[in-house]
Formats: sequence, C-alpha cells, structure tokens
Amino acid sequence: MPDRSDRPFHALTAEETLAELSAGPGGLAPAEAAERLALHGPNRLPEPPGRNAVLRFLAQFHNVLIYVLIVAAGVTAALQHWVDTGVILAVVLVNAVIGFVQEGRAEQAMAAIRDMLAPRSAVLRGGRRVTVEAADLVPGDVVLIEAGDRVPADLRLIEARGLRVEEAILTGESVPVEKAVAAVAPEAALAERLPMLFSGTLAAAGTGRGVVVATGPATQIGRISGMLASVETLTTPLVRQMDLFARWLTVFILLVAGSLLAYGFYVGHMSFGELFMAVVGLSVAAIPEGLPAVLTITLAVGVQAMARRNAIVRRLPAIETLGSVSVICSDKTGTLTRNEMMAARLALGEAELAVAGEGYAPEGEVCPVDVAPGPGREAGTSAGTDPGLLAALARAAALCNDAVLHEEDGVWRVEGDPMEGALLALAGKIGAPGVDRARRDAIPFDAAHRYMAVLVEAPEGGAELLVKGAPEAVLALCADRMALGGGTAPIVPADWHRKVEELAADGLRVLALARRAMPAGQEGLSHDDLAGRLSLIGLVGLIDPPRPEAIAAVADCHSAGIRVKMITGDHAATARAIAAEIGLKNTDRVLTGADVEALDDAELAAAATGTDIFARTSPAHKLRLVTALQARGLTVAMTGDGVNDAPALKRADAGIAMGLKGSAAAREAAELVLADDNFASIAAAVREGRTVYDNIKKVISWTLPTNAGEALTIVVALFAGMMLPITAVQILWVNLITAVTLGLALAFEPSEPGTMRRPPRARTEPLLTGGLIWHIVLVSGLFVLAVFGIFAYATERGHDPALAQTMAMNTLVVLEIFHLFFIRNIHGTSLTWTGLRGTRIVWACVLTVTGAQVAVTYLPLLQPVFGTRPVPLEDGLLIVGIGVVFFALIETEKQMRLAFRRGQHGT
Ligand code: ATP
Repeated sequence: MPDRSDRPFHALTAEETLAELSAGPGGLAPAEAAERLALHGPNRLPEPPGRNAVLRFLAQFHNVLIYVLIVAAGVTAALQHWVDTGVILAVVLVNAVIGFVQEGRAEQAMAAIRDMLAPRSAVLRGGRRVTVEAADLVPGDVVLIEAGDRVPADLRLIEARGLRVEEAILTGESVPVEKAVAAVAPEAALAERLPMLFSGTLAAAGTGRGVVVATGPATQIGRISGMLASVETLTTPLVRQMDLFARWLTVFILLVAGSLLAYGFYVGHMSFGELFMAVVGLSVAAIPEGLPAVLTITLAVGVQAMARRNAIVRRLPAIETLGSVSVICSDKTGTLTRNEMMAARLALGEAELAVAGEGYAPEGEVCPVDVAPGPGREAGTSAGTDPGLLAALARAAALCNDAVLHEEDGVWRVEGDPMEGALLALAGKIGAPGVDRARRDAIPFDAAHRYMAVLVEAPEGGAELLVKGAPEAVLALCADRMALGGGTAPIVPADWHRKVEELAADGLRVLALARRAMPAGQEGLSHDDLAGRLSLIGLVGLIDPPRPEAIAAVADCHSAGIRVKMITGDHAATARAIAAEIGLKNTDRVLTGADVEALDDAELAAAATGTDIFARTSPAHKLRLVTALQARGLTVAMTGDGVNDAPALKRADAGIAMGLKGSAAAREAAELVLADDNFASIAAAVREGRTVYDNIKKVISWTLPTNAGEALTIVVALFAGMMLPITAVQILWVNLITAVTLGLALAFEPSEPGTMRRPPRARTEPLLTGGLIWHIVLVSGLFVLAVFGIFAYATERGHDPALAQTMAMNTLVVLEIFHLFFIRNIHGTSLTWTGLRGTRIVWACVLTVTGAQVAVTYLPLLQPVFGTRPVPLEDGLLIVGIGVVFFALIETEKQMRLAFRRGQHGT
C-alpha cells in the first residue's frame, strides 16, 4: 500500500495510521489477513529471473576441453574417420548433459536451503501473538520487533522501547538510529523518518511494535532495483583449488599432447590420422574434465545430507571447516537442554515451596516442600506461605512477561520465550487475581544487565514496578524484601545467595522477582527507578532438562576428538549441574564472565583450553573465548542466538546460529543454522562435514590415477613405437562410460564406519598429499602393467590384435571397478562385508558399466564401431582375476601404511 499522497505515514500519528489501514492495535483478524494477502500478494521481493535452461545447457560447452574436442571432431571428419567423429561428438554431448544435470542438482540443493531459511515474524492476529512466515504479512498487520530481528516489511511504529535500528542498507549510515513513535514532518528524508521501520533493516537493540504499511515490492527496499539477493554458487576453497588445478593440468596435458603429436609425426614417422586420434584419446583420458562437476555434486549431496539432519549450511566453505572442528562451544539453554521450562521450586520469605504440574499447563499444586502435594488443599494456603506474597509473585511472573500461552487440543504451548511461558503457567497455578494489569512502560531484558522491568497499574491503585532477572542482578537492586502480612523485612543478601546456590546445584535455572510501589502518576521507567529501591519477592527455580540426544552427541564428539564446552548466561552452579548431566569432560572448574574479564589474552588462552564450563558470560566474552581458543591452534565452532553474538559467530571458524530462537542478526553472521536448535544436529553436521571431505578426497583419489593410467597406456605405446594396446576410440569410450558412472558414485558415499572415532583433521592438511601422489603413481603404474601385460599375453597366445585390444580395454575397466571398491574405504579395510556389499548407487554404476562393456564386446552391431571382438570365457575370467590381484595388492599396501601410521601414533 503506497503512502497517501497528502500525508505520508511518518507524518501521521500511530492512531491515524491504524485508522488509515483499518487495523487495530491487536492486529488483523486471521480471515481479514488472508483476504488482504490475496489482494496485495506475498510480502516478497520478486525473484531474480532464473537462467534460461537452453542458455544453461549451451554454457556447458564453454570449456577448454570441449573446444579441443570439437576441433578434433572437425579434423577427424576432414580425414573422413566418421566413427571417431561420432564418438568424439558423443563425448562432447554427454559431458554437456552431465554438467547440465549436475548444475541443476546443485541449484536445487541451494534453493531448498533458501526455503528452509525463510524468515518468520511475530505478529498479533486477532489480538493473539503468533509467528508467521514473513511472506504472509499484509498491510495492517501488527508486527513485534526485538533486538536482532530483520524488519520484515515497512512498518509504522505504534510502540518503541529503546529501539535502535541499523538502516545502512537504505541510508548507508551504519550507526543505529534511535526510533520513536511521534510523527515527523511530511518532508522528512528517509533517515529522519523516526516512526518508520523499513523492510530489510536490522533492529540492533530494544523492542517495538509497528503496523505494516507496505509489503514486498511496495516497500522502500523493493523500490530500489538491483538490490536483490546475490546468488551463491556451490563452491568452497577446496573445490576452487581443484578447479584451478584441473585447468592447469589441462594446459599441461595439451602441451604434452602437442609435443607427442610432433614427435610421433616427425621422429616416429607415424600416419597423421592414427597419431592424431591417439593424441586426442590421450588428452581426453588424461584431462579430469568431469572432476569439478563431480566435486560440486559431492558438495550438493553434503548440503542436502546436512539439511536432512537439520543443519542448514549458509556458507559453503563451512562444509569443509566443520569436518576439521576440534572444539565446539555451545550455548546451554535450548541447545544442550530442551528449553521446555517449568517452574519447580519457589523460595518465598522463610518458606520453600514445590510446584507440581506438567508442561505449560497452568494447573498444578504449589505447596511447601516438606508437605507432599495432595487433594483437598487450596493452592498457596499451606502453612508458612502468605497468600499476599504468592499473589505478588504471580503478578510479577505474569506481568513482567512478553510470552503468551495458548491451548490447542489439550496441549498448552508458548508463543515467545519458554522461560516466560513457564512463569505464566506458574502464575496460573497460583491463580492470583490482578495479573491482567495494563503495562505503562518496560525495560526489555538485555544480557548486559540481566533483568527485565515493567511499570503497571497496581491492584490497590497507583502504579507498581515489577522486575525479574538473574538473582545477582536483582538482589543488587533490592533494599529489603517483602515479608509475611504485606510489610517489608530487612534482607540478608548472603542468605539469599545461599538459597540461589542450593536451587542451582540441582540444575535449576534461578530467577529473582522483585517489586516496588510507584507514584500513581508515573508513566515512564528508567534504570534509576530500580537501583537500590526494590523489595525482593522471592526466587523461582525452573527445570530445563538436558536433551537426551545431546548427551549421546556429546559422547560422540568426545570420541571424535572434539572437546565440547558450554558457554551460558546462566548461573555457575546451574551450569555445572547441567554439564555433569550432559557428560562434559571437566565439570570441576567453571570460569565466569567476571573471571574471563580478569584474565589477559594469554592467560585466557591457557585457562580456556582446559575449562569446559563458562557461566554468566555475555556475548563479548564469547568473542574473546573464540579468539583465545583459536590462538591455541584449535578450529572452533561456536553457537549463538542473540544480536550481540554476531561478532563471535563471525570470528569462529564455524559460526552456528539457532533457527528457532535465534535472531536474524545471528543467523546472518553464521555459517550454519540449526533448524531445531539441537546440539545433536551440530554433531551430525560435523559427521557430514567429515564425510564430504572424505568423499572429495575419494573422488580425487579415484579420478586422478584412473586418468593417469589411461593416458600413460597411450604415451608408453607411442614412445615405444608399439601398436596401441587400447585404441583411441576405445579409450574415449571407456572415459565416457566410467565418467558418468564410477566417477560419480563416490559423490554419494555414506560416512565410513568410525568417521566419528577419528581425531579431527588438521586445518592445514593439504589435499594433494605425498600419500595421494604415491597412490597415483602406484595405481597408474599397475594399470599400465596390467594393460600391457594382458595385451602381450593375448598376442602371445596368437589372438587377433583386435581381440588383444578388446581384452586390454576390458582389463582397464575391471581395474577401475576394483579401484572404486578400494577407494570406498580410505580409512579402514575395504575387505569387509559392508565394504563389498557396497551401496545401491555403487552397484547400479558397476552394473551399468558391466552391461555397457558386455554390449561393446559382444554385440555384433557395436563391434565394427569400436573395433572389438568377443572375448572367450577363460580370458574373461583371467581379466577378472587380474582385477582381484590388483585389489589385493593395493589393499595390502594400504594396510601396511595404516599399520605403520598406527605404530607411529603408538595406538
Ligand atoms: P544460554 O547462553 O545458555 O542460552 P541463557 O539463555 O541463560 O543461557 P541469557 O539469555 O544471557 O543466557 O540469560 C542470562 C540470565 O538472565 C538467565 O540465567 C536469567 O537469570 C536471566 N534472564 C534470561 N532471560 C530473561 C528474561 N526474559 N527476563 C529476565 N531475566 C532473564
């Protein structure tokens, strides 16, 4: 909906804006919202047009190898070698098709992830707070904004509390702007429209609510063209490195091929036609043309596998980094624990009370701990408990609160912070009157001061200040405490800290609640109204049980050589109790935020390595911790959810944000987003990260020796001036058929057993290690030996040269298949039942290749094309036998190497 021409929304008051949009402060009714959605369309910027499929297909031909092949096809056609021309063109076409299909798959993987990261937004619909997809917002919706949120549409504020918004994407100004509800002049520039929030800007602090005035293309950002999301391509440093390597290798091979052509023609005096085909065959065999595409597919498969495990990769290099993570710093609440809270214990005056109940249902008894709950007793009236105190507690719990509970099919759910939901349930259980007072002002919760305060109308008239927060923070603000009978009593902070410790030692999250009577006319609230003037009401202990799957995942990480550290804003004793339940390694030592501040960088680096629990930390400490751990050479994964966690997430090697409770700011700073906020998903992502890295290594370890082996066969023959043991057309064929099958199969390999029982890979470990080079030399050497061996054997047996060549070609393919089975297990033994059983993809590929080879060898129709002859049975068996011997040789060599390495590591 465009601004009105006479007066724009920023010049209207909040009430006028609501009236203009026919909306109320409680938002639109759901039916009305649905109607408006149909009218205005989704709140989404138009997608940049996707690349046309035909253009995408044609782009596949833009590649050095393809140019070479097309020239080669032209030359063979000029020489009237029609079969060669046909085969070369088939290679060109198949290459383009594979590239096209793979690129499509990769794009699909990325698109699926984009959908999973679709932004959501808290709105009021029919007076009720609900979370909807940002795309479903319509003009007139009332949206709730808090620090860390990306503004989902253009909004006119109707309430703002300490709300500061970073509008750099619109105004270029990086300092956050303080927003206010009051109208401004109609001609105010964008940066001065203080009562407006613009779509795409970021709330840096505070809270607010605003009514949607424009959505999708009608927003300010939508009107600026060229600001559409950039498209991310599926690549990582490693894959880029391989891409570059493959390009230089291509140049090198073309130079070698050119030299060979000259050598053969001028020195060897060979016929140009035959020589030319041999050199083309050599180039195609040697150039790893499919490698970059297969690596891209490997990444796409990894991205999808992680997404299935609820880990959404935002930046692709994270896939590689995750595999080498050696420390995971995790938040406690919601990641290691369930974040399904329930108030279980209360400390009120002299009494200690137990709260019964299930979930968020506001039903359950509240009674002194020494009196077992039972029927027939009215809540809150048991001996030692003062109904007045309980009522004050319930009021503070219910009013100093932004969450909402609602019941659906008998199940109570929270909209908002689960801890606040638990407090609402507690207030319901106490059932005190006066919990529906109007709020006049509020100081939102902030991890820096660790409390939240509201100013409300008091039940007895006048106003009341209600505060909840971390006990240390609240106790520091208290002058006295509420006593039995409505008066106040002196407070002994040490006693209360002891009570806090007792509750926390049971793993309870402890909150303190306090109040103060305020003058009736007071409308606004500042921190000065709190300092040293509050009366403590009591303490609430909330249970938040650990996630059982997190316990298993922590154990997994430990066996994978990854240290897990808990970094929490919670109390040290609570953190320690939960850490013990979760199974962290060192639960004896806790570093608090204050401790971290007292240490310098070097001391912190030393202390942080051995400490697994960090309590009462704030986001700035997280940043220092990451830096300290990295200084020790560790690869650090760090979780975060708040707007202030963004710097630590950026700094970490793998920043991990929460998809459910995380802010947009944290998500955007992170490499990985957890769809379920669950620690177990991090462990799963690490496992997938290791698997992807292994698979990249496997693809390379299979492709390079295979190519080298094929190419060497031709080079050796040319130099020795012998007949080619495999004809150029056959080499082209083998390359074609194996590239689409065997070469691709490894991209889909599942994790090897023991993937999470190996120590993490060093971050600096190169891909082309001495070991890999040795593997290339060994395998290509054995390929050449086997091919020439069988060729010589066949010739000696008096076979026709064409049959000898057919046998040599089949030997090459059999070796490639055995090599594939070998490569599937680079970290363990390949000769296991699971290893041999393979996967469906592996067998599908092997069967396809075998079927194709049988066809080429035995089908009379194809024999003239490829110059093949039917191979007798005993020779066929011999070829398979050679494959078995080859497998046994390289497997034994690997076992020797593994044994040697184990000996070196003393395991
Ligand atoms: P984690 O870092 O593991 O997620 P956390 O969520 O407990 O821990 P913070 O959100 O920084 O960390 O909270 C720190 C402390 O502040 C809590 O232990 C609690 O005492 C208090 N607190 C948290 N949320 C609120 C709130 N909405 N109102 C008042 N106090 C709060």
